Amino acid sequence: MGVLTGRTALVTGASRGIGRGIAERLARDGARVAVHYGRNETAAKETVAAIEKEGGSAFALGVELGAPGDAEALWEEFDRHADGGLDILVNNAGIGSTRPIEQLEEREFDAVFAVNVKAPFFILKHGMPRLRDGGRVVNVSSGLARTAVMPDNMAYAMTKAALDVLSRDLSKVLGPRGITVNSVAPGIIDTDNTAPLLSSPGGRRQAEAISALGGVGEPAEVADVVAFLVSDAGRWVTGSWVDVTGGSLT
Ligand code: NAP
Repeated sequence: MGVLTGRTALVTGASRGIGRGIAERLARDGARVAVHYGRNETAAKETVAAIEKEGGSAFALGVELGAPGDAEALWEEFDRHADGGLDILVNNAGIGSTRPIEQLEEREFDAVFAVNVKAPFFILKHGMPRLRDGGRVVNVSSGLARTAVMPDNMAYAMTKAALDVLSRDLSKVLGPRGITVNSVAPGIIDTDNTAPLLSSPGGRRQAEAISALGGVGEPAEVADVVAFLVSDAGRWVTGSWVDVTGGSLT
């Protein structure tokens, strides 16, 4: 019996990277996990297979985020697979933007806000009635929301700052139902997203130098923190911003 046995979790963007790490960890703790993906069905099925191989329970759920109606479509898909409500929602799916303000066009600005801010907002709006009392919400933010160490990521950082306000303010809305809402802010984590940086000449060394611990994080490092927040041990933590940057802001 794991600490999450009997609970149902939905992790967006769980086909790869940090989301996959979170999905696998929550399943190991006993939750039945909805593994959401955008386009990469094969990777989502691999995540589900990896969970089942370890004795866990999961199902894949594909809906591309970033277009009007995306959140409602996601919940329709969820309802088709899940039997009943939800205990844990992790808004993890996100995209980057690496153009400086001088070069950033409206189209890219709108796209990064649509996926990173609008989608979690409406996933929550339509998900709140499905979340059982005592539930958990974790929004995956970024250390960049609080530092300009990479100014070319300004629009991306702005999306994460907006997500953090959502975590803080929604904690007051959902608190009376015993539902906690927190942001978890990773630093540089080794995923497909950061592969171009980490494989560039000197890129990994540069990335490692940012963290006080002198390294680049793995998805498991973020997943362990999420696992704490969604467990009973995290019951008195809400509206907070949890720094999982390996000390990149110090
Ligand atoms: P990743 O490896 O690129 O994986 C992204 C995941 O999100 C995939 O499962 C992908 O689905 C899904 N996704 C992306 N766009 C989507 C869309 N439009 N609709 C539906 N699903 C979509 O990313 P990651 O590095 O693990 O990052 C995960 C989260 O952590 C993001 O919110 C990111 O901003 C945040 N973060 C990452 C880092 C880092 O260093 N990696 C640092 C701080 C914060 P498909 O597989 O179907 O494409």
